[in-house]
Amino acid sequence: MSIGNTSILRAVDIYGEYVVSPLLSVKAVTNVILHMNSGEIVGIAGESGCGKSTLVKILYGYIEPSLRVRGRVLLNIDDGTIDLLSVDEEYKRGRIWWRYISYIPQNSMNILNPYMRVGDHFTELLKKHLNLEKDEAIRVAGEYVEDLGLRKDVLKAFPHQLSGGMRQRIVVALSLLLKPRVIFADEPTTAVDVVLQKVLLQYLLDKQKEYGSTLIIVTHDMSIHAMATERIIVMYAGHVVEEAPTELFYEDPKHPYSRALINSLPRLGDKGIRQGLAGQPPSLINPPPGCRFHPRCPYSMDICRREEPPINKYENGWRVKCWLYVKR
Ligand code: SF4
Repeated sequence: MSIGNTSILRAVDIYGEYVVSPLLSVKAVTNVILHMNSGEIVGIAGESGCGKSTLVKILYGYIEPSLRVRGRVLLNIDDGTIDLLSVDEEYKRGRIWWRYISYIPQNSMNILNPYMRVGDHFTELLKKHLNLEKDEAIRVAGEYVEDLGLRKDVLKAFPHQLSGGMRQRIVVALSLLLKPRVIFADEPTTAVDVVLQKVLLQYLLDKQKEYGSTLIIVTHDMSIHAMATERIIVMYAGHVVEEAPTELFYEDPKHPYSRALINSLPRLGDKGIRQGLAGQPPSLINPPPGCRFHPRCPYSMDICRREEPPINKYENGWRVKCWLYVKR
């Protein structure tokens, strides 16, 4: 796997909150700064509700009506750099989504139009972006679905006539169809069985390599990050708490939350079930002061309860948001 060192996507000072009422909001993502390099595979990890799916939607430029966002998401395209949070949705639908960046959600029905045949999803994209005639588009679509172990006649079906696993394969094929520079995969294999999980993940990795795309895998499954990613970003309660090269991270995770995530992974020779992290992530309506992890952290100190920790930077782009690493 090759890691490019040219940044293709940069997120600058990102805040995202779901507005529940004029006085109430869920602060899903707070002050996130990160970048993605060309051709690398990045993992975003953390428990459910830590803000990783919201972050990915913001990075993709998909802003749901109740989501209020601040910051910039800068994407390099052929004719310059655009801020995905400033350009309008029509422009993203017409020029950017699928072609430069694509998104694989956990639930395939979030992407597929229930009133369109599967094949029409492919022909529409291929006509719009590559100006392919229908016959040629169907031929290309057939190759993609066969690569994923499906028969070509699925192209004639409506999405509801297929199983969840078949639909997820269709969405993966669509997401790769235009060889996008950036692919977001949000829990892409969570809703399918173990055999299909392996097939889909390997297919994504093969195509990432073939196209030189940047692949961002979002999952709570730490074994997938260990197996597939080159760099890992750990989120807790809306903050990025650690970012590191994956291999080094698994040898010596620095943040107490990262350690807990890795310690919950099963090991060869384990006889019992490993304990997960005690307690629950905090409410993001009213997150705890100081370090948001302090109610669950075995190393919590006075300052952790009072002041938000700074980000400590190390070699290889390693970053840790924790008071333990601040010299005082
Ligand atoms: Fe634990 Fe304090 Fe570090 Fe937070 S800042 S992870 S509470 S040691």
